Amino acid sequence: MSTRWIFTVAEMISFATEVRSQSKTLALVPTMGALHEGHLSLVRQAKIQCDVVVVSIFVNPAQFGPTEDFARYPRNPEKDFELLESAKVHAVLAPSVDEVFPAGFSTFVDPGQIATVWEGAQRPVHFRGVATVVLRLFNIVRPDVAFFGQKDFQQVVIIRRLVEDLNLPVRIVVCPIVREADGLARSSRNVYLSAEDRRAAALLSRSLKRAEGLAHSGEADVETLLAEMGKMFAAEPRLQIDYAAIVDSATLEPVTHALPGSVALVAARLGAVRLIDNLIFAPPGSSPEMKLQLALTAPQPDRESAAAPRPEIDSLRIKIENCRDCAAVTSISLPAREFLFKYLKRDYPNLDAIRVLVIGGCAPIGPTDSPYRNPEQPNLFLTRLYELLGVQSFAEFKLSFALTDAARCHAVGNRVDERTLEYCAKHLREELKLFPNVQSIVILGEYAYLQFQRHILGRERSSIKPFPELLKAEGWARESVRLPCYGERDLRVLYCYHPTFENKKSPPLGGYLSSKP
Ligand code: AMP
Repeated sequence: MSTRWIFTVAEMISFATEVRSQSKTLALVPTMGALHEGHLSLVRQAKIQCDVVVVSIFVNPAQFGPTEDFARYPRNPEKDFELLESAKVHAVLAPSVDEVFPAGFSTFVDPGQIATVWEGAQRPVHFRGVATVVLRLFNIVRPDVAFFGQKDFQQVVIIRRLVEDLNLPVRIVVCPIVREADGLARSSRNVYLSAEDRRAAALLSRSLKRAEGLAHSGEADVETLLAEMGKMFAAEPRLQIDYAAIVDSATLEPVTHALPGSVALVAARLGAVRLIDNLIFAPPGSSPEMKLQLALTAPQPDRESAAAPRPEIDSLRIKIENCRDCAAVTSISLPAREFLFKYLKRDYPNLDAIRVLVIGGCAPIGPTDSPYRNPEQPNLFLTRLYELLGVQSFAEFKLSFALTDAARCHAVGNRVDERTLEYCAKHLREELKLFPNVQSIVILGEYAYLQFQRHILGRERSSIKPFPELLKAEGWARESVRLPCYGERDLRVLYCYHPTFENKKSPPLGGYLSSKP
């Protein structure tokens, strides 16, 4: 198959009509040429998803302001054609300006308020030009699917809005940012960077990574994150920052907390070269695709029902939204904390067999040392827990025990505040219902104790014995309680020191636990 080079609108329309008559799916990848790996990643995705791929190359004058770099925008048609031929693209549409904007052309698309912020504020006609040319290309090619890069995040938001608002019969696919080895986002304009500017340019992605790292360690406050980024920029005088912001992925309005799905946007100038970059906040370990899903399935404020959310993302989002109060939202979806939803089904084929539920304050296990993932290598917490419960291994543990947490936010460590305990008790109440034959509950440490007393048993703070006093005599304590979810049945509750958060140790309770209640 050889790549077809198309210069006119008429020829493109007849090519596309021919493709449709064969009931083949058609992809469009709009570009301005001077192609690089970023563009090629879109092409590869298009080839995977569709039968026929058209790449358009058009440096669109309508999206450049009078003082911008339209004339000197990089152009390299021979190399582009070579790259697209080796990528086995079916057709390249490379029209002249007169073909796309013939004499008398006077209709433009106004994408509205969303096109007036960030890039739009810096480049007032930019998105009007982008939306107009994209709509025209869509109408000429009539693709089933069109591919865009996350690199131009605001553009993605605007195109998706265009498609939705004007009911365009095309599906938009967004592909992750392709970067250089040092993190710099690939861009056609990078070729104009001097060696020194090139080094300074890497600071953009480094600052985004820094913000991401801080968010992963529990710092969600946008002012703090931007201040950290600002410090990095200040150390590089070559870099003129146009804006750095953390925004809601749907409205592009600034947010106060960087939640999963929020987006950090940066734009800067290095001499005459303008660069943009962005990063989607997401739980640690999220793939680029997962990040995009998080950002792009955000319910639109006025279009809740129009969004087509994926259930798991949606539920994650709801959890995060609900958890705003608990401060440590960034890692709310850490797999270890999600054991109930993710691992329970796999590790516990029969929930009826569970006799003992263990509630850790905030069990010190992460994604790598979770016993549900890595049963052969218990960490210190688990080793001591097995000793306390009188089991030898995780295999033995899971025959009749299940482990959960009083607090779900991993960043809170062993200092858990009252609000967190109150909020997370909701989850605990739901979990209790999952184990209909539970006979005993083992409570580890003071925070789990306080949560259980206050928010599961509903006791007044003044009637709750201080934890150290309760455990003073024997190193553990027990009581018999009834919970509404278990009806008239008595449940024994054992209160112990936390295996790793406290200096004192409770005696082994295996014998007691295996005795009949
Ligand atoms: P452009 O030629 O700059 O207009 O880009 C054409 C398409 O390629 C747009 O959808 C861009 O978002 C996308 N693109 C540009 N650079 C990258 C990159 N580094 N990674 C992924 N996509 C990109």
